[in-house]
Amino acid sequence: MEAEYLRHGVPLADYQLTWADHGRQHEAVQVHEWVQRHVVQAPRWSDERWEQMRQFLGPPTPAWELQRWRLRLYCGHVIEATRSRKSPRPDGGICDKARCPECGLDPAVIVAFEPLGPVADPPPEKRSRKPSRSTRAPPADRRSKAELVAENEALRAELDALRDQA
Ligand SMILES: [Zn+2]
Repeated sequence: MEAEYLRHGVPLADYQLTWADHGRQHEAVQVHEWVQRHVVQAPRWSDERWEQMRQFLGPPTPAWELQRWRLRLYCGHVIEATRSRKSPRPDGGICDKARCPECGLDPAVIVAFEPLGPVADPPPEKRSRKPSRSTRAPPADRRSKAELVAENEALRAELDALRDQA
């Protein structure tokens, strides 16, 4: 079943930053700088190790399992991004920030968002499957799996970004 997609701070164009947004951005920058310092110090990964990490993360999420979102970032730019369609909001866990493709601010925390729609229609065999009773009220472990998928996507993106820098 589809998640109940949330929205926050709409209309995105009129959103005013809050003190909480400034605090989250400050924290995200500090974490980012800490990671960058340690990445510089860390020994370079071999191709073999990158491949192991890629296998550990598993195959990329198929398009029909992704939901499109319009996000307003800390810098004020509004971008489109995808997340696991099981996540009711696009800013869970480590997915709460992005690199702004407009101004290059990195990281830029997500301050407001609205759902757009699925990236692609599910394949017929997935569509015809009857929803089971358990999907009506997802248990806690199901939700946490959705969060894991979302974090997996974010890790993959960070991994690719790090590799580009290496
Ligand atoms: Zn920007």
